[in-house]
Amino acid sequence: MDVKKLQEKIAAKREQMIADMIEMSSIPATNPRMGGPGEYERMQWIMRWFDQRNIPYEVYEVPDDAVKEGVRLNVIVTIPGTKVQDRSLWFISHVDTVGTGDLELWDTDPLKPVVKDGRIYGLGCEDNSQSVITTMYACELLFSEEIRIDRNLRFYYAADEETGSEYGMKALLDKGLIQPEDEAIVPDGGSHDGAFVEVAEKSQVWLKFTVNGKTAHAAMPQLGINACYIGMKFGVELEETLKAVYSEEDPLFNPPMSTFELTQKFANVASPNVLPGKDIFCMDMRILPMYSVDEVMTSIHRLMERYEKDFPGIHMDVEFLTRTDAPEPTSPESKVARSLVEAISETGTKAYSGGIGGGTCGAILRARKIPAVVWATLDDTCHSPNEYVIIDNMIRDTQIYLSVLDKYNGA
Ligand SMILES: [Zn+2]
Repeated sequence: MDVKKLQEKIAAKREQMIADMIEMSSIPATNPRMGGPGEYERMQWIMRWFDQRNIPYEVYEVPDDAVKEGVRLNVIVTIPGTKVQDRSLWFISHVDTVGTGDLELWDTDPLKPVVKDGRIYGLGCEDNSQSVITTMYACELLFSEEIRIDRNLRFYYAADEETGSEYGMKALLDKGLIQPEDEAIVPDGGSHDGAFVEVAEKSQVWLKFTVNGKTAHAAMPQLGINACYIGMKFGVELEETLKAVYSEEDPLFNPPMSTFELTQKFANVASPNVLPGKDIFCMDMRILPMYSVDEVMTSIHRLMERYEKDFPGIHMDVEFLTRTDAPEPTSPESKVARSLVEAISETGTKAYSGGIGGGTCGAILRARKIPAVVWATLDDTCHSPNEYVIIDNMIRDTQIYLSVLDKYNGA
C-alpha cells in the first residue's frame, strides 16, 4: 500500500469532508434518553452516503420503544481480510449526540454547523462526528483503491453511546459480533496534539455518605449528637487512610496513583445555632486496576464500624452513586496500540499509550477481553456549548488510520 499517495488523496478531499460534516451534523441525533429523536435519520444519511459509492453494509436493528421508529440502527461496513477472515480490526464511531444544553451559551445555532477559523462549530461535530466522517473517508478510499489488510476491517457506526450503548455496542457484543481475537480503535477521546493513546482506565466510584446523629440547639450540645463534627472527622480520616493504604503507583496512568477525594457536601441545617443531626457528603474515587473496588469498600466499612462504636447513638450509611470496575487494561504491546503509537510518531508527534481516570466506551470492550484503544486528535470540547472540530485534525486522523492499516499489511 502506497501510504503517502493515499494520504495525499485524503488531503485533497478536504472541502468535501467539510461539506459532509456540515450536512450530516445538521440532522438532529440527540439520544432519546436525553430528550432527542435518536440517530435514526442521521444513520439514513450515512447509509445513503455508502449507497452512492456502491459500498455494501449490514444494518443491525435493536428494538427500542423510546424512538418513533421503534428500532435503533447500527451500521457495519466490512472489508474482508486477505489472510484471515475470523478476526477483525474495528473502527467504532457513535452517531448519537447529547442535547444542546442551554442555547444561550452557544454563539451559533448548534444544528447549523458553521466554519470559522479552521474549525466547524456544531453539536456533535467533535463527539463523535469527527470519527464518523474520518472513518467514512478512510473506508471510501480503501474501497476505491481496492485495498485490504491481512484480517477483516470493520467500520461500525453505532447507536446509543451517550446513555450507555444498550441499543448499540452492547447489543452487538451480546450477539457475539465482536470477539476477543479482534481489536478496536475507538476515536472517541484524545488530546490536542493527538499524542495520547488510551489503553487503560481506573475504576470509577462515587460514594455518598450519610452520618445520622441527633439534632439539638447548639447551646445545649449534650442533648444531641453533632453529625457534622463526626462527618468531617470521618471524612478526613477516610481520605487519609485510603491514600495511605492504597498508595501503589502505576506509571501507565496520569496521575500514577489511585485518587480519593472528598467532593460534594450537602446542605444541612438552616441556622448557625442548630446542631446538625445529619451530615451528607460524597467522595470521588479512581482506583488503579491493581486494587479491587471490593477491597477498598471493605476498608471503608471497617472505618465506619469503628466510628459507630466510638460515637454511640450514630448510624452511618454509604451508597454507590456510580460504580464502574476497571477492566483489564489493553496491553501497550498489543498490535493495535503499537501500530497506532508508531503511526502517530511518524508524523513527528511523539506518541505514548497510557490510562485515564475512567469513563470511556473502551471499557465496555476491554471488559469483554477485546483489546481497544481510544484515540483522536481533539480539543475535548464535547458535551459543551460551542463544540467544534478542527478541520486539520479530520485530515490528520484519517491519514494516521491509513498508516496504521499499512502495518497490518500481510503481518
Ligand atoms: Zn462520544
